[in-house]
Amino acid sequence: MPTAGIRFLRHCRPRFVQVYPVTRLYTKRELLQDASAAGFGLLLSSSPGVGNVTLFTPQSPSFNQLRQGFNERIDKYPKVIAVCHNANGVTDAVNYAAKNRLSVAIRSGGHSFEGFSCNNGGLVINLSQLNQIEWLNSTTVRVGPGVTLSHLYDALLPHKRIVPTGSCGGVGIAGLALGGGYGFFSRSYGLTCDSLLDVTMVDSRGVVHRGASEPDLLWACRGGGNGSFGVVTEMVFKTHPAPSSFRSYRFKLGGLDGPKAAHLLENWFTLAAELPRSCFSAFVLNSKGLVILITDFEAPTPQLRRLLERAGSMARSSSTGRPQNLAAALKVYYGRPGPLSFKNSSGGMYRGFDDVRGCAVAMLNLVTSHPGLMYQVNTLGGSIADPGFGAASCFPHRSRPFLSELQSYWSTPAQEANLHKAFRQVQNLLLQNGVTAHYANYPDLEFTDWQHAYYGASYPRLQAIKRRYDPGNLFQHEQSVRA
Ligand SMILES: Cc1cc2nc3c(=O)[nH]c(=O)nc-3n(C[C@H](O)[C@H](O)[C@H](O)COP(=O)(O)OP(=O)(O)OC[C@H]3O[C@@H](n4cnc5c(N)ncnc54)[C@H](O)[C@@H]3O)c2cc1C
Repeated sequence: MPTAGIRFLRHCRPRFVQVYPVTRLYTKRELLQDASAAGFGLLLSSSPGVGNVTLFTPQSPSFNQLRQGFNERIDKYPKVIAVCHNANGVTDAVNYAAKNRLSVAIRSGGHSFEGFSCNNGGLVINLSQLNQIEWLNSTTVRVGPGVTLSHLYDALLPHKRIVPTGSCGGVGIAGLALGGGYGFFSRSYGLTCDSLLDVTMVDSRGVVHRGASEPDLLWACRGGGNGSFGVVTEMVFKTHPAPSSFRSYRFKLGGLDGPKAAHLLENWFTLAAELPRSCFSAFVLNSKGLVILITDFEAPTPQLRRLLERAGSMARSSSTGRPQNLAAALKVYYGRPGPLSFKNSSGGMYRGFDDVRGCAVAMLNLVTSHPGLMYQVNTLGGSIADPGFGAASCFPHRSRPFLSELQSYWSTPAQEANLHKAFRQVQNLLLQNGVTAHYANYPDLEFTDWQHAYYGASYPRLQAIKRRYDPGNLFQHEQSVRA
């Protein structure tokens, strides 16, 4: 299949290159056929005969599919979608947008909760074809923004290496890392952005920058780089030794109301704070009941066994962790392919149970009485709190070892309206209880002070960086950094 990736292979030393085929939506040939057949697609090229980027307008047959992200609830109509076939195509698309006064949204994996990678009436830069993975040496990889987490695991695990990323296979490495990025390995190796060594970025004037020689830019891209400063066309990551096996322990309990669930949540916070760094845990509550997940990639220590017993005593049923091959174990968490209709957002970044003590019963009453609503708290902490990582990145919430996520899923409009109301009630309870720190990759359009919520004291420096790379606000979405 002729893809941009295969062309890349010819230009690199094969020994170090692994190229992964485009698995999402289109091959380059299909894109070109669609553009020419429709008669509306415009091929832009800086060298004659080579298409760097294909522009799609609403009349193109592929347009509707191309504008659709992972969240089916989001329904935006850009004026133009620019599918870039290489980095020159990104520069061409940026210059085209600037010349035609179109604001730019940037799409890599398309998993933004609030659809920040699409816009109304502007230009969307689609990077799905920039999906190469190249080993620079035995521990460092260069990754295109179109690479998804499952592609990355597929490329790294045979070399017994990992980058600490998230769990869902279809999420884009670019959006995830630029907003922070956490998952099963973060408590040992840090956030995804802490392994980010370099970025290549096209700014609003079409100028290419390197993070390795522009420290402010790299600092901003480690947690605050989503769609605000320019288009990241390449990322270089440090890799880490991959564990040989992985264990998942699940503890379940049904029949819960607010008071019972709040009591269990407090116990879980105490237990989770004592987990070794090789472990991840999640408290997952909905109307059906509670699941406590604990994962580990080391052999269980006596300390962990004691904690597992404590978790078992909180539950009615449990499944104990058989050691599994890492690649197979991770696939269990890849999730559904989508698109899906949902409303998810951060439910706050906490220091501990005290942050939610005042609203836990009322909040969990709402969760347990509304089918489709889900409240989850995940462990962060461990290496994420290392001071070196803090100084090198704009991610401001390292002293908060817990991240909560509020989720809602529906199948009818009536259910959606009911869930929306309950969702807002939970968010209001959290706000009234002083929960104001949130994860930028779990955005909510209704966070009023989102600048402080996502970036804390880093925001003024991010604004200065915005003035340097995008003074005219070409790159924007509803919650992008404003100069
Ligand atoms: C099902 C699901 C599972 C998830 N699991 C996790 C998880 O385990 N851990 C975790 O930390 N997060 C997780 N997330 C959140 C995820 O990190 C964010 O949604 C992330 O921003 C998605 O990145 P993307 O490239 O797929 O999305 P996009 O929608 O393509 O982009 C997201 C944002 O990043 C910007 N952006 C994308 N590419 C670039 C680029 N190349 N240059 C500049 N800006 C860019 C976009 O403008 C947009 O603002 C999950 C989300 C979903 C929907």
